[in-house]
Formats: sequence, structure tokens, C-alpha cells
Amino acid sequence: MSKTPFVTKEKAEEISRDIQTPFHIYDEKGIRTNARAVRGAFSWNPGFREYFAVKANANPFLIRILQEEGCGTDCSSLTELMLSEALEFRGDEIMFSSNDTPAEEFSFAEKIGAIINLDDFTHIQFLEYTLGHLPKTLSLRYNPGGVYRISNGIMDNPEDAKYGMTKEQLLEGYRLLRSKGVERFGLHAFLVSNTVTNDYYPSLARTLFSLAVEIKEKTGVSLSFINLSGGVGIPYEPEQTANDIAAIGAAVHSVYDEVLTPAGLGDVAIYTEMGRFMMGPYGGLVTMAIHEKHTYKEYVGVDACAVNLMRPAMYGAYHHITVLGKENEPCDRKYDVVGSLCENNDKFAVDRMLPQIDRGDLLFIHDTGAHGYAMGYNYNGKLKSAEVLLKEDGSYALIRRAETPRDYFATFDCFNIIQGLV
Ligand SMILES: *Cc1c(COP(=O)(O)O)cnc(C)c1O
Repeated sequence: MSKTPFVTKEKAEEISRDIQTPFHIYDEKGIRTNARAVRGAFSWNPGFREYFAVKANANPFLIRILQEEGCGTDCSSLTELMLSEALEFRGDEIMFSSNDTPAEEFSFAEKIGAIINLDDFTHIQFLEYTLGHLPKTLSLRYNPGGVYRISNGIMDNPEDAKYGMTKEQLLEGYRLLRSKGVERFGLHAFLVSNTVTNDYYPSLARTLFSLAVEIKEKTGVSLSFINLSGGVGIPYEPEQTANDIAAIGAAVHSVYDEVLTPAGLGDVAIYTEMGRFMMGPYGGLVTMAIHEKHTYKEYVGVDACAVNLMRPAMYGAYHHITVLGKENEPCDRKYDVVGSLCENNDKFAVDRMLPQIDRGDLLFIHDTGAHGYAMGYNYNGKLKSAEVLLKEDGSYALIRRAETPRDYFATFDCFNIIQGLV
């Protein structure tokens, strides 16, 4: 399969005359279409809600689009909770799935009525001490340990993960919560990241649904919701096949009917906390080729760097690259596409076959909508880029300006020579 950018060369050039490259661009139509498909896939479950994982992309303009499509937010920090509050998400529409959580973040989450999802057994006491009471609704995060396999061999090692609690702790946790007056209970687990298989959610659902039955048998607690969390992946590589969310929803439905309903748990709400699947494919990084270098390898230097998109440098992750306007030219050149950091891992592509790239060409780096801008940093004093929304009607809007040196120096306000710099 080939990967096609959602923006043409002409449109990218038009925008780049107005907004300097590099910039992330997002596809409103794609975001909405996908969000509706997610909703449709789980419409069999009346309580279903997707809580968009804000850490994947914290731009409020984009989150508002998802809000209009019926999503809530899943937060991992104080600022994400603040953003959710500012966007007028209310109570049950906010999930707080954090770990190693500071007391003030628990307090704020409770203040705005977010559903608190506890990462550890000891957090029950910590939360009660922090708030002076426990909320009426609480969720617990499970870690089954061992190695987690799905039928097609994709797996991860929950045993090495810092998240969640053991089954014994979980059972004890529900007993303790109930004895302390908690009334609504949830269960959460996130076991494998970026799965490109329709089997992950159904397999996780079987694990969690069976556990819900066991929880009911052993503690008498009937769960109100089960949160399948994130981990549904996207095809970063052109050879990969995209997940079919309708098939995933239908498969979760049959496990639900098989395991939960016969156990008298047929009114459990299903929640998800997808980040990557909701936004990943609907963002791209537009960057200009500004240098070519011929040494032991052929390099193309672009005006973006790992500060704008860290995944290749951090995980060696593949991001497809299209040279805009050269979609139909043969990929007969082998390049390393590099950024300007003084870090040899600052490469968007290594030994990538691409068409001949000339200075001034615009490159579209695919699938940057999730864990793209959001993961950025300021190493080498590099500034973060702008973000642009390509609207459904084909027009565009600046939804975050690029950082300026003033932003970079802003936290040195105690150091008075900075006044002269900005
Ligand atoms: C990161 C994260 C998510 C989102 O994960 P994706 O892989 O982007 O879907 C959801 N929930 C929690 C608790 C997370 O840490």
C-alpha cells in the first residue's frame, strides 16, 4: 500500500508562504471521520466513551474537534487536567490515568470531578490521606505480569512495566474501596503499545472481562466500567495494514456477550483511551530541504529536527516521507534525511529510498498527529514549530504559533540580562 499525504504540494506551498516551515499540519476531516468510526464501532455499548489521551496531542483546537465528536479526555498530569477543565469537559468526561501521581494532581482531579484511575494499591491510602475522603467513583489499574501475547505473536512484557497492580492487590483494593464507601468501580489496563492487529482489544477484553467476573465472585463488587485504554496502533510503514476499528468493536462485542453478559455484568460501560489511533495519521510535519551534503553518505538537511518529532531519534521509529510534488517520481536515491541537532540520532530517515531531493523541496513526514509535537523538547535551544489545521472546507488556520526566543528565555525571568535578549 502507498501512503498519500492529505495535503498537496500547492496547498503546502501556499501555507508555507504564510507560516514558516517547519510546521505540523492536521486534517480535520480525517480526525472527524475516524472519531465517528470509533463511535460507530462501539455503539452496541450504550455507556461507551473514548477518552482521548491528551498526552498524544495537547492542542485544544484539535481536542475540541474530538469533543464535538463525543470524546472525553484522558489526562496524565495537572496541565492536561487544567486544559480539559478549560475546554469545559465535565466530571465523567475526564479520566485521570496517571502514575507516580503528586498529591496536588489528585486534589485537582477530584476538584474538577475527573474519574481517578489508581495505578497502585498504596495510592488508595495516599488518595484518602490527600483528599480526606475517597471519591464515590474509582478505577484501578491492572498489571497481569508475565509476557502478554496476542494470537499473531505481538507481545509485550507487563512484568517489566512500572504500571498497575497485581491481581491480589486488585482484589484487595476493591474490597478496601467498598468498605470505605466507594460506590462505582472501574478496571483499567494498558498492556501493549502501537498494536497493528485487530486482535489486541478483543484479547485484552477477554482478560479484563474474565477478571471482572472473578472480581464479582471473589469480592462481590460489580464493575461499572472497563477501560481498554490505548495501544491501538497505526500503520507507520506503507506495508502495514491499518486496524479495522469496526472489526475490533465487533470482536469486543462478542467477547462481552460471551463473558460479561452471562455473569450478570451486561451493563458494564466500555471505555477507551486512545491517543495514537485518534490523531496519529491525521497529522504531518511539513519541512523544507535546506541543505544537501555528499560525504560517506548522501544527506538531505531539512529545517525540522528531532525537537519537532522525536520518535525516530528516540525509538528508531519509522515515519514515511513524501517529497511533495514528486509523488510519482522513482525512488532511486538513497538518503539520510537529517535535522540540525548536534546529535547523530537526529535523523528522520536512514538509507531511505526517495526521489531526487532539491533544496527548497517540501517534505511531508507522515503520521505525526500523535506523540509528535507533544513529545518535543528544546534541546540545542531549538524552538518548537507552529501547528496548522487544514479544515474540512480546504482552508487552513494557525492553531499554535511557533515558539520565539522570548518563549525560550521566559523562565529565566529571575536573571536580568535576559531582558535585553528579548
Ligand atoms: C499513553 C497512554 C494512552 C494512549 O496511548 P496510545 O498508544 O497513544 O493510544 C492511554 N492511556 C494511558 C494511561 C497512557 O499512558
